[in-house]
Amino acid sequence: MRVLIVGAGIGGLCTALSLEAVGITDIVVIEAVPEILPLGVGINLLPHAVRELTELGLSEQLAAVGVATSDLTYVDRFGSAIWSEPRGIAAGYHWPQYSIHRGRLQNLLLQEAIRRLGPEAIRAGCRVRTATTGDNLAYLTWLDGDAEVTESADVVIAADGIKSAIRADWFPDEGPPQWNGQVMWRGVSQVTPFRSTKSMVMAGDREQKFVAYPIEAVRDDGTQLINWIAEKDCSGSELAQQDWNRKVGKDSFAPEFDSWSFDWLDIPRVIDAADAVFEYPMVDRPSLDSWIRGRVALLGDAAHPTYPIGSNGSSQAILDARVLAYALATLPVDQALKFYEDERLPRTRELQRVNRAMGPELVMQMVRERAPAGFTNIHAVIDAAELDEVAASYKRVAGFAPTMLNERVSWTPTDEPAPILAPTEAPNPTQVGIER
Ligand SMILES: Cc1cc2nc3c(=O)[nH]c(=O)nc-3n(C[C@H](O)[C@H](O)[C@H](O)COP(=O)(O)OP(=O)(O)OC[C@H]3O[C@@H](n4cnc5c(N)ncnc54)[C@H](O)[C@@H]3O)c2cc1C
Repeated sequence: MRVLIVGAGIGGLCTALSLEAVGITDIVVIEAVPEILPLGVGINLLPHAVRELTELGLSEQLAAVGVATSDLTYVDRFGSAIWSEPRGIAAGYHWPQYSIHRGRLQNLLLQEAIRRLGPEAIRAGCRVRTATTGDNLAYLTWLDGDAEVTESADVVIAADGIKSAIRADWFPDEGPPQWNGQVMWRGVSQVTPFRSTKSMVMAGDREQKFVAYPIEAVRDDGTQLINWIAEKDCSGSELAQQDWNRKVGKDSFAPEFDSWSFDWLDIPRVIDAADAVFEYPMVDRPSLDSWIRGRVALLGDAAHPTYPIGSNGSSQAILDARVLAYALATLPVDQALKFYEDERLPRTRELQRVNRAMGPELVMQMVRERAPAGFTNIHAVIDAAELDEVAASYKRVAGFAPTMLNERVSWTPTDEPAPILAPTEAPNPTQVGIER
Protein backbone atom coordinates (compact mmCIF):
# COMPACT_ATOMS: atom_id res chain seq x y z
CA MET A 1 0.00 0.00 0.00
CA ARG A 2 1.31 3.47 -0.89
CA VAL A 3 0.44 6.41 1.38
CA LEU A 4 1.17 10.09 0.74
CA ILE A 5 1.09 12.30 3.85
CA VAL A 6 0.73 16.08 3.59
CA GLY A 7 2.69 17.94 6.31
CA ALA A 8 5.68 16.97 8.46
CA GLY A 9 4.24 18.41 11.69
CA ILE A 10 3.56 16.29 14.77
CA GLY A 11 0.51 14.66 13.16
CA GLY A 12 2.09 13.89 9.78
CA LEU A 13 5.32 12.48 11.22
CA CYS A 14 3.42 10.36 13.76
CA THR A 15 1.29 9.02 10.93
CA ALA A 16 4.45 8.00 9.04
CA LEU A 17 5.89 6.29 12.14
CA SER A 18 2.59 4.60 13.00
CA LEU A 19 2.18 3.24 9.47
CA GLU A 20 5.76 1.97 9.45
CA ALA A 21 5.11 0.20 12.75
CA VAL A 22 2.23 -1.79 11.20
CA GLY A 23 4.26 -2.74 8.14
CA ILE A 24 3.12 -0.03 5.68
CA THR A 25 6.45 1.37 4.50
CA ASP A 26 5.74 2.83 1.05
CA ILE A 27 5.21 6.31 2.49
CA VAL A 28 6.18 9.82 1.40
CA VAL A 29 5.66 12.89 3.59
CA ILE A 30 5.27 16.07 1.52
CA GLU A 31 6.20 19.20 3.50
CA ALA A 32 5.83 22.82 2.35
CA VAL A 33 8.77 24.42 4.17
CA PRO A 34 12.16 23.89 2.50
CA GLU A 35 13.88 23.19 5.82
CA ILE A 36 12.11 21.67 8.82
CA LEU A 37 13.34 23.85 11.70
CA PRO A 38 12.58 23.15 15.39
CA LEU A 39 9.95 25.90 15.70
CA GLY A 40 7.40 26.66 18.40
CA VAL A 41 7.74 26.77 22.15
CA GLY A 42 6.52 24.35 24.81
CA ILE A 43 3.65 21.87 24.49
CA ASN A 44 2.38 19.09 26.71
CA LEU A 45 2.07 15.46 25.76
CA LEU A 46 -0.59 13.83 27.92
CA PRO A 47 -0.32 10.19 29.05
CA HIS A 48 -2.62 8.95 26.28
CA ALA A 49 -0.24 10.38 23.67
CA VAL A 50 2.87 9.24 25.55
CA ARG A 51 1.38 5.74 25.57
CA GLU A 52 1.14 5.81 21.76
CA LEU A 53 4.69 7.14 21.37
CA THR A 54 5.94 4.53 23.86
CA GLU A 55 4.28 1.79 21.79
CA LEU A 56 6.11 3.25 18.78
CA GLY A 57 9.40 2.66 20.68
CA LEU A 58 10.12 6.31 21.49
CA SER A 59 9.99 6.33 25.30
CA GLU A 60 13.73 6.78 25.86
CA GLN A 61 14.04 9.60 23.33
CA LEU A 62 11.05 11.36 24.90
CA ALA A 63 12.45 11.03 28.42
CA ALA A 64 15.71 12.55 27.19
CA VAL A 65 14.11 15.72 25.79
CA GLY A 66 11.02 16.26 27.95
CA VAL A 67 10.26 17.06 31.58
CA ALA A 68 7.99 14.45 33.21
CA THR A 69 5.33 16.78 34.64
CA SER A 70 4.48 15.79 38.24
CA ASP A 71 1.62 18.12 39.19
CA LEU A 72 -0.76 20.78 37.89
CA THR A 73 -2.17 23.62 39.99
CA TYR A 74 -4.79 26.21 39.10
CA VAL A 75 -4.53 29.45 41.11
CA ASP A 76 -6.53 32.67 40.97
CA ARG A 77 -4.93 35.96 39.90
CA PHE A 78 -3.75 36.51 43.49
CA GLY A 79 -1.85 33.21 43.57
CA SER A 80 -4.27 31.29 45.85
CA ALA A 81 -4.70 27.61 44.96
CA ILE A 82 -8.03 26.56 43.45
CA TRP A 83 -7.22 22.99 42.47
CA SER A 84 -4.11 20.86 42.44
CA GLU A 85 -3.62 17.36 41.10
CA PRO A 86 -0.78 14.93 40.44
CA ARG A 87 -0.03 14.29 36.75
CA GLY A 88 1.52 11.46 34.78
CA ILE A 89 3.03 8.58 36.75
CA ALA A 90 2.28 10.40 40.04
CA ALA A 91 -1.43 10.29 39.12
CA GLY A 92 -1.38 6.51 38.62
CA TYR A 93 -0.98 6.39 34.85
CA HIS A 94 1.27 3.75 33.33
CA TRP A 95 2.81 6.52 31.19
CA PRO A 96 4.24 9.94 32.07
CA GLN A 97 3.04 13.33 30.91
CA TYR A 98 5.80 15.33 29.23
CA SER A 99 6.29 19.06 28.94
CA ILE A 100 8.44 19.40 25.88
CA HIS A 101 9.67 21.90 23.29
CA ARG A 102 7.49 21.45 20.20
CA GLY A 103 10.45 21.85 17.86
CA ARG A 104 12.48 19.22 19.70
CA LEU A 105 9.57 16.80 19.59
CA GLN A 106 9.11 17.43 15.88
CA ASN A 107 12.83 16.94 15.28
CA LEU A 108 12.82 13.70 17.28
CA LEU A 109 9.94 12.39 15.17
CA LEU A 110 11.60 13.57 11.96
CA GLN A 111 14.94 11.89 12.73
CA GLU A 112 13.15 8.68 13.70
CA ALA A 113 11.05 8.75 10.49
CA ILE A 114 14.22 9.22 8.42
CA ARG A 115 15.97 6.39 10.31
CA ARG A 116 13.06 3.95 9.92
CA LEU A 117 11.84 4.89 6.42
CA GLY A 118 14.90 6.46 4.77
CA PRO A 119 15.58 10.10 3.84
CA GLU A 120 13.62 9.78 0.59
CA ALA A 121 10.44 9.41 2.68
CA ILE A 122 10.48 13.15 3.48
CA ARG A 123 10.16 15.65 0.63
CA ALA A 124 10.57 19.21 1.93
CA GLY A 125 9.94 22.38 -0.07
CA CYS A 126 6.83 20.96 -1.77
CA ARG A 127 3.59 22.89 -1.25
CA VAL A 128 0.50 20.73 -1.75
CA ARG A 129 -2.43 22.23 -3.61
CA THR A 130 -5.10 19.55 -4.10
CA ALA A 131 -5.96 15.92 -3.44
CA THR A 132 -8.53 14.03 -5.48
CA THR A 133 -9.80 10.47 -5.84
CA GLY A 134 -10.50 8.30 -8.90
CA ASP A 135 -10.33 4.61 -9.82
CA ASN A 136 -9.71 3.62 -6.19
CA LEU A 137 -6.62 5.78 -6.04
CA ALA A 138 -5.86 9.19 -4.52
CA TYR A 139 -4.02 11.84 -6.55
CA LEU A 140 -1.95 14.49 -4.81
CA THR A 141 -0.76 17.63 -6.60
CA TRP A 142 1.97 19.92 -5.29
CA LEU A 143 4.41 22.58 -6.40
CA ASP A 144 8.08 21.59 -6.31
CA GLY A 145 9.72 24.93 -7.11
CA ASP A 146 7.93 26.03 -10.26
CA ALA A 147 7.07 22.49 -11.32
CA GLU A 148 3.61 21.07 -10.69
CA VAL A 149 3.85 17.41 -9.69
CA THR A 150 1.01 14.89 -9.37
CA GLU A 151 1.50 11.44 -7.85
CA SER A 152 -0.95 8.70 -7.00
CA ALA A 153 -1.29 6.60 -3.85
CA ASP A 154 -3.79 4.24 -2.27
CA VAL A 155 -4.45 6.83 0.44
CA VAL A 156 -3.62 10.50 1.03
CA ILE A 157 -3.55 11.80 4.60
CA ALA A 158 -3.82 15.58 4.90
CA ALA A 159 -2.00 16.57 8.11
CA ASP A 160 -1.30 20.11 6.94
CA GLY A 161 -2.43 21.96 10.04
CA ILE A 162 -5.04 24.57 10.90
CA LYS A 163 -4.57 26.32 7.53
CA SER A 164 -4.86 23.04 5.60
CA ALA A 165 -4.81 23.50 1.82
CA ILE A 166 -6.83 20.31 1.32
CA ARG A 167 -9.53 21.40 3.75
CA ALA A 168 -9.65 24.83 2.08
CA ASP A 169 -10.02 23.12 -1.30
CA TRP A 170 -12.91 21.01 0.02
CA PHE A 171 -14.59 23.91 1.84
CA PRO A 172 -13.72 27.07 -0.12
CA ASP A 173 -16.27 29.14 1.82
CA GLU A 174 -14.96 28.20 5.26
CA GLY A 175 -12.58 31.17 5.46
CA PRO A 176 -9.94 31.75 8.15
CA PRO A 177 -9.99 30.08 11.59
CA GLN A 178 -12.44 31.54 14.13
CA TRP A 179 -11.09 33.81 16.87
CA ASN A 180 -12.59 33.95 20.37
CA GLY A 181 -11.13 37.36 21.23
CA GLN A 182 -8.23 36.06 23.32
CA VAL A 183 -4.58 36.55 22.44
CA MET A 184 -1.66 34.42 23.68
CA TRP A 185 1.90 35.64 24.08
CA ARG A 186 4.34 32.74 24.36
CA GLY A 187 7.96 32.64 25.43
CA VAL A 188 10.67 30.74 27.27
CA SER A 189 12.79 32.13 30.13
CA GLN A 190 15.85 30.78 31.93
CA VAL A 191 14.90 31.56 35.56
CA THR A 192 14.73 30.21 39.12
CA PRO A 193 12.63 27.00 39.15
CA PHE A 194 9.27 27.00 40.90
CA ARG A 195 7.59 24.35 43.04
CA SER A 196 8.81 20.78 42.34
CA THR A 197 10.84 21.79 39.22
CA LYS A 198 8.36 19.55 37.32
CA SER A 199 5.21 21.50 38.15
CA MET A 200 2.75 23.15 35.83
CA VAL A 201 0.73 26.16 36.96
CA MET A 202 -2.19 28.10 35.50
CA ALA A 203 -3.00 31.44 37.11
CA GLY A 204 -5.93 33.81 36.57
CA ASP A 205 -9.15 33.37 34.61
CA ARG A 206 -10.65 33.90 31.16
CA GLU A 207 -9.96 37.64 31.14
CA GLN A 208 -6.29 37.28 31.94
CA LYS A 209 -4.23 34.16 32.43
CA PHE A 210 -0.65 33.00 32.84
CA VAL A 211 0.53 29.42 32.29
CA ALA A 212 4.03 28.19 33.17
CA TYR A 213 5.88 24.88 33.10
CA PRO A 214 9.53 23.82 32.78
CA ILE A 215 10.67 22.16 29.54
CA GLU A 216 14.26 21.30 30.55
CA ALA A 217 16.00 19.88 33.60
CA VAL A 218 17.50 22.31 36.14
CA ARG A 219 20.94 23.53 35.01
CA ASP A 220 24.11 23.49 37.12
CA ASP A 221 23.66 27.20 37.84
CA GLY A 222 20.31 26.42 39.50
CA THR A 223 18.14 27.95 36.74
CA GLN A 224 15.58 26.17 34.58
CA LEU A 225 14.02 26.84 31.17
CA ILE A 226 10.38 27.76 31.82
CA ASN A 227 7.84 27.85 29.02
CA TRP A 228 5.12 30.43 29.59
CA ILE A 229 1.97 31.74 27.97
CA ALA A 230 0.40 35.06 28.94
CA GLU A 231 -3.17 35.41 27.76
CA LYS A 232 -5.59 38.31 27.66
CA ASP A 233 -9.11 38.93 26.45
CA CYS A 234 -8.69 41.40 23.58
CA SER A 235 -12.25 41.20 22.23
CA GLY A 236 -13.05 44.22 20.13
CA SER A 237 -9.48 44.77 18.97
CA GLU A 238 -8.09 43.75 15.61
CA LEU A 239 -7.39 40.04 15.11
CA ALA A 240 -3.70 39.20 15.57
CA GLN A 241 -2.03 37.44 12.63
CA GLN A 242 -2.20 33.65 12.70
CA ASP A 243 1.47 32.83 12.45
CA TRP A 244 3.04 30.64 15.14
CA ASN A 245 6.41 32.34 14.61
CA ARG A 246 5.39 36.02 14.76
CA LYS A 247 7.63 37.87 17.20
CA VAL A 248 6.25 40.92 19.05
CA GLY A 249 7.33 43.26 21.86
CA LYS A 250 6.17 42.89 25.47
CA ASP A 251 4.47 46.27 25.87
CA SER A 252 1.00 45.14 24.81
CA PHE A 253 0.64 42.65 27.69
CA ALA A 254 3.52 42.67 30.23
CA PRO A 255 2.32 45.73 32.26
CA GLU A 256 -0.99 43.93 32.90
CA PHE A 257 0.93 41.27 34.86
CA ASP A 258 3.00 43.72 36.97
CA SER A 259 1.14 42.85 40.17
CA TRP A 260 1.20 39.07 39.55
CA SER A 261 4.23 38.41 41.73
CA PHE A 262 3.59 35.48 44.07
CA ASP A 263 6.04 34.28 46.73
CA TRP A 264 6.55 31.04 44.73
CA LEU A 265 6.51 32.50 41.18
CA ASP A 266 7.51 36.00 40.11
CA ILE A 267 5.57 36.35 36.85
CA PRO A 268 6.83 39.84 35.87
CA ARG A 269 10.37 38.54 36.26
CA VAL A 270 9.67 35.45 34.15
CA ILE A 271 8.24 37.63 31.35
CA ASP A 272 11.16 40.04 31.63
CA ALA A 273 13.72 37.22 31.24
CA ALA A 274 12.42 36.08 27.82
CA ASP A 275 14.53 36.98 24.78
CA ALA A 276 11.62 36.66 22.36
CA VAL A 277 7.83 36.68 22.58
CA PHE A 278 5.49 35.13 20.00
CA GLU A 279 1.91 36.29 19.57
CA TYR A 280 -0.90 34.00 18.46
CA PRO A 281 -4.69 34.39 18.62
CA MET A 282 -6.89 31.75 20.27
CA VAL A 283 -8.47 30.24 17.16
CA ASP A 284 -10.19 27.05 16.09
CA ARG A 285 -12.56 25.94 13.38
CA PRO A 286 -16.06 24.47 13.52
CA SER A 287 -16.17 20.69 13.54
CA LEU A 288 -16.84 18.89 10.26
CA ASP A 289 -19.38 16.16 9.54
CA SER A 290 -16.78 14.11 7.70
CA TRP A 291 -13.01 14.03 7.32
CA ILE A 292 -13.00 11.78 4.27
CA ARG A 293 -13.41 12.30 0.54
CA GLY A 294 -12.82 9.08 -1.36
CA ARG A 295 -9.28 8.00 -0.57
CA VAL A 296 -8.28 11.26 1.11
CA ALA A 297 -8.60 11.86 4.88
CA LEU A 298 -7.86 14.83 7.12
CA LEU A 299 -5.86 14.34 10.35
CA GLY A 300 -4.71 16.45 13.32
CA ASP A 301 -5.32 20.20 13.16
CA ALA A 302 -6.47 19.93 9.55
CA ALA A 303 -9.39 17.81 10.78
CA HIS A 304 -10.15 19.22 14.24
CA PRO A 305 -8.26 22.38 15.21
CA THR A 306 -9.07 23.18 18.81
CA TYR A 307 -8.08 25.90 21.26
CA PRO A 308 -4.78 25.05 22.95
CA ILE A 309 -6.60 24.38 26.22
CA GLY A 310 -6.12 21.26 28.30
CA SER A 311 -2.87 20.38 26.46
CA ASN A 312 -4.58 18.38 23.73
CA GLY A 313 -3.51 19.72 20.30
CA SER A 314 -0.54 17.47 19.65
CA SER A 315 -1.86 14.64 21.81
CA GLN A 316 -5.02 14.26 19.71
CA ALA A 317 -3.04 14.33 16.44
CA ILE A 318 -0.89 11.48 17.79
CA LEU A 319 -4.00 9.47 18.68
CA ASP A 320 -5.42 10.09 15.19
CA ALA A 321 -2.24 8.71 13.66
CA ARG A 322 -2.26 5.53 15.70
CA VAL A 323 -5.95 4.79 15.13
CA LEU A 324 -5.57 5.38 11.40
CA ALA A 325 -2.59 3.03 11.17
CA TYR A 326 -4.44 0.38 13.18
CA ALA A 327 -7.39 0.64 10.80
CA LEU A 328 -5.32 0.55 7.60
CA ALA A 329 -3.45 -2.50 8.92
CA THR A 330 -6.58 -4.45 9.75
CA LEU A 331 -9.31 -3.41 7.27
CA PRO A 332 -9.74 -2.77 3.53
CA VAL A 333 -8.92 0.90 2.73
CA ASP A 334 -12.46 2.31 2.49
CA GLN A 335 -13.59 0.56 5.66
CA ALA A 336 -10.38 1.59 7.40
CA LEU A 337 -10.93 5.29 6.69
CA LYS A 338 -14.52 4.97 7.92
CA PHE A 339 -13.34 3.20 11.09
CA TYR A 340 -10.80 5.98 11.71
CA GLU A 341 -13.44 8.68 11.25
CA ASP A 342 -16.04 6.90 13.38
CA GLU A 343 -13.55 6.43 16.20
CA ARG A 344 -11.92 9.86 16.16
CA LEU A 345 -14.40 12.43 14.82
CA PRO A 346 -17.02 12.32 17.62
CA ARG A 347 -14.38 12.43 20.34
CA THR A 348 -12.47 15.36 18.89
CA ARG A 349 -15.72 17.19 18.08
CA GLU A 350 -16.69 16.92 21.74
CA LEU A 351 -13.24 18.10 22.80
CA GLN A 352 -13.50 21.14 20.50
CA ARG A 353 -16.84 21.96 22.08
CA VAL A 354 -15.58 21.55 25.63
CA ASN A 355 -12.44 23.59 24.93
CA ARG A 356 -14.63 26.43 23.66
CA ALA A 357 -16.18 26.37 27.13
CA MET A 358 -12.71 26.59 28.77
CA GLY A 359 -12.27 22.83 29.32
CA PRO A 360 -10.76 22.05 32.73
CA GLU A 361 -9.86 25.74 33.16
CA LEU A 362 -13.53 26.47 33.73
CA VAL A 363 -12.87 26.32 37.49
CA MET A 364 -10.67 29.43 37.18
CA GLN A 365 -13.53 31.42 35.69
CA MET A 366 -16.02 30.08 38.25
CA VAL A 367 -13.75 31.36 41.03
CA ARG A 368 -13.26 34.72 39.29
CA GLU A 369 -17.02 35.21 39.07
CA ARG A 370 -17.74 34.02 42.61
CA ALA A 371 -14.75 35.60 44.39
CA PRO A 372 -13.40 38.49 42.27
CA ALA A 373 -11.47 39.96 45.22
CA GLY A 374 -9.85 36.63 46.13
CA PHE A 375 -10.59 34.01 48.78
CA THR A 376 -9.12 32.44 51.89
CA ASN A 377 -11.07 29.15 51.83
CA ILE A 378 -11.59 27.73 48.33
CA HIS A 379 -14.34 25.39 49.50
CA ALA A 380 -16.41 28.37 50.59
CA VAL A 381 -16.32 29.42 46.92
CA ILE A 382 -16.62 26.10 45.10
CA ASP A 383 -17.07 22.70 46.67
CA ALA A 384 -14.61 19.86 46.32
CA ALA A 385 -17.01 17.61 44.41
CA GLU A 386 -17.59 20.29 41.77
CA LEU A 387 -13.85 20.83 41.31
CA ASP A 388 -13.29 17.10 41.12
CA GLU A 389 -15.99 16.60 38.50
CA VAL A 390 -14.71 19.33 36.15
CA ALA A 391 -11.23 17.76 36.20
CA ALA A 392 -12.48 14.16 35.90
CA SER A 393 -15.00 14.78 33.15
CA TYR A 394 -12.46 16.61 30.98
CA LYS A 395 -10.16 13.60 31.22
CA ARG A 396 -13.01 11.35 30.11
CA VAL A 397 -13.78 13.55 27.10
CA ALA A 398 -10.14 13.81 26.05
CA GLY A 399 -9.49 10.08 26.55
CA PHE A 400 -7.11 10.14 29.49
CA ALA A 401 -9.19 9.14 32.50
CA PRO A 402 -6.58 7.04 34.36
CA THR A 403 -8.37 3.67 34.61
CA MET A 404 -9.86 3.97 31.14
CA LEU A 405 -6.44 4.68 29.62
CA ASN A 406 -4.49 2.13 31.65
CA GLU A 407 -6.96 -0.63 30.79
CA ARG A 408 -7.68 0.27 27.17
CA VAL A 409 -6.60 -2.24 24.55
CA SER A 410 -3.58 -1.08 22.56
CA TRP A 411 -3.85 0.41 19.06
CA THR A 412 -1.01 -1.89 18.04
CA PRO A 413 -2.77 -4.50 15.86
CA THR A 414 -3.08 -8.02 17.29
CA ASP A 415 -5.58 -10.82 16.75
CA GLU A 416 -7.82 -9.19 19.37
CA PRO A 417 -11.03 -7.45 18.23
CA ALA A 418 -10.98 -3.71 17.51
CA PRO A 419 -10.40 -1.69 20.69
CA ILE A 420 -13.54 0.42 20.52
CA LEU A 421 -14.34 1.95 23.91
CA ALA A 422 -17.40 0.62 25.69
CA PRO A 423 -20.30 3.10 25.72
CA THR A 424 -19.92 3.61 29.49
CA GLU A 425 -16.39 4.87 28.91
CA ALA A 426 -17.39 7.28 26.19
CA PRO A 427 -17.58 10.97 27.07
CA ASN A 428 -20.80 12.34 28.48
CA PRO A 429 -21.31 15.69 26.74
CA THR A 430 -23.45 17.09 29.52
CA GLN A 431 -20.78 16.70 32.17
CA VAL A 432 -18.22 19.25 31.12
CA GLY A 433 -18.32 22.96 30.58
CA ILE A 434 -20.91 25.38 29.38
CA GLU A 435 -21.39 26.70 25.88
CA ARG A 436 -20.64 30.38 25.67
C1 LIG B 1 5.76 26.23 13.06
C2 LIG B 1 4.73 25.80 14.07
C3 LIG B 1 4.87 26.15 15.41
C4 LIG B 1 3.91 25.77 16.35
N1 LIG B 1 4.09 26.15 17.65
C5 LIG B 1 3.19 25.77 18.58
C6 LIG B 1 3.36 26.13 19.95
O1 LIG B 1 4.34 26.78 20.32
N2 LIG B 1 2.41 25.76 20.85
C7 LIG B 1 1.31 25.02 20.46
O2 LIG B 1 0.46 24.70 21.29
N3 LIG B 1 1.14 24.63 19.18
C8 LIG B 1 2.04 25.00 18.23
N4 LIG B 1 1.86 24.63 16.92
C9 LIG B 1 0.65 23.83 16.58
C10 LIG B 1 0.78 22.38 17.02
O3 LIG B 1 1.99 21.85 16.52
C11 LIG B 1 -0.41 21.61 16.51
O4 LIG B 1 -1.58 22.15 17.09
C12 LIG B 1 -0.41 20.12 16.87
O5 LIG B 1 0.89 19.62 17.01
C13 LIG B 1 -1.12 19.30 15.79
O6 LIG B 1 -0.21 19.14 14.73
P1 LIG B 1 -0.52 18.96 13.19
O7 LIG B 1 0.56 18.05 12.70
O8 LIG B 1 -1.91 18.58 12.94
O9 LIG B 1 -0.31 20.41 12.59
P2 LIG B 1 1.00 21.31 12.53
O10 LIG B 1 1.89 21.06 13.67
O11 LIG B 1 0.52 22.69 12.31
O12 LIG B 1 1.76 20.78 11.22
C14 LIG B 1 1.30 21.01 9.90
C15 LIG B 1 2.46 20.81 8.94
O13 LIG B 1 1.96 20.89 7.60
C16 LIG B 1 2.80 21.72 6.83
N5 LIG B 1 1.98 22.29 5.74
C17 LIG B 1 1.04 23.26 5.84
N6 LIG B 1 0.48 23.48 4.64
C18 LIG B 1 1.09 22.63 3.75
C19 LIG B 1 0.95 22.38 2.35
N7 LIG B 1 0.05 23.05 1.61
N8 LIG B 1 1.73 21.44 1.78
C20 LIG B 1 2.62 20.74 2.51
N9 LIG B 1 2.81 20.94 3.85
C21 LIG B 1 2.03 21.86 4.45
C22 LIG B 1 3.29 22.76 7.83
O14 LIG B 1 4.46 23.41 7.39
C23 LIG B 1 3.52 21.89 9.07
O15 LIG B 1 4.79 21.31 9.07
C24 LIG B 1 2.78 25.00 15.95
C25 LIG B 1 2.63 24.64 14.61
C26 LIG B 1 3.59 25.01 13.67
C27 LIG B 1 3.42 24.60 12.22
